[in-house]
Amino acid sequence: MNDLERALRFQADIGTDEVVLPRKRRGLSASAAATPQALPADSSQYASLEAFRGAICDCQKCPLGKTRNKFVFGVGNPHAPVMFIGEAPGADEDRQGEPFVGRAGKLLDKILAAIEFDRSSVYIANILKCRPPQNRDPEQSEMDACMPYLERQIAMIQPAFICCLGRIAAQGLLGTKTPLGKMRGQWFDKFGARLMVTYHPAALLRFPDYKRDTWEDVQRLRAAYDEWKGQAT
Ligand code: URA
Repeated sequence: MNDLERALRFQADIGTDEVVLPRKRRGLSASAAATPQALPADSSQYASLEAFRGAICDCQKCPLGKTRNKFVFGVGNPHAPVMFIGEAPGADEDRQGEPFVGRAGKLLDKILAAIEFDRSSVYIANILKCRPPQNRDPEQSEMDACMPYLERQIAMIQPAFICCLGRIAAQGLLGTKTPLGKMRGQWFDKFGARLMVTYHPAALLRFPDYKRDTWEDVQRLRAAYDEWKGQAT
């Protein structure tokens, strides 16, 4: 599929109200092209992600352990080259035990399809493994308690790319309070991966004008992935 076909399919799928033609792909920025940070040694004593999930799925490190229905560990390829990380499970995810299965998740599936990925080729997780009541923003104490789990998952998966979906994921993983708008369009070297930031799919449902920027972000991710894959093979 060429760039124009991808662009039109994405826009038809996610319902943009105007056609945005793809820009010429840029190469990787200097920071993206740089050697990623050395990956922290994976000191994991778990033989697999599944074993890790089994060890932590009864977690009671924060009060969300009492209110959750299901623990939402993450889903996808245990050796995924690309990880997508959101904020926290919502009601649908809490019911099903899988991230991004509600309305925002359906849109994420379309975004993935438009850049020729799917749930089984990437890995999808959240900053929090348990749903905050009424879908409120995660509290710092909850993020502090849960983040080591996600960091361990990243260390086990060793993705080449991480795409943060929304402000909470980006600020949590980068340890910053920088607004999302300032983090978009950059590559960060983090966890031995190239990390980028885009809008949360739920934000696209509320603010369709963000779709154009999201399309540009995910195209950039796909282009960097293609370039990396070309070098890796
Ligand atoms: N929003 C998120 O950030 N994560 C989910 O899993 C679902 C909705």
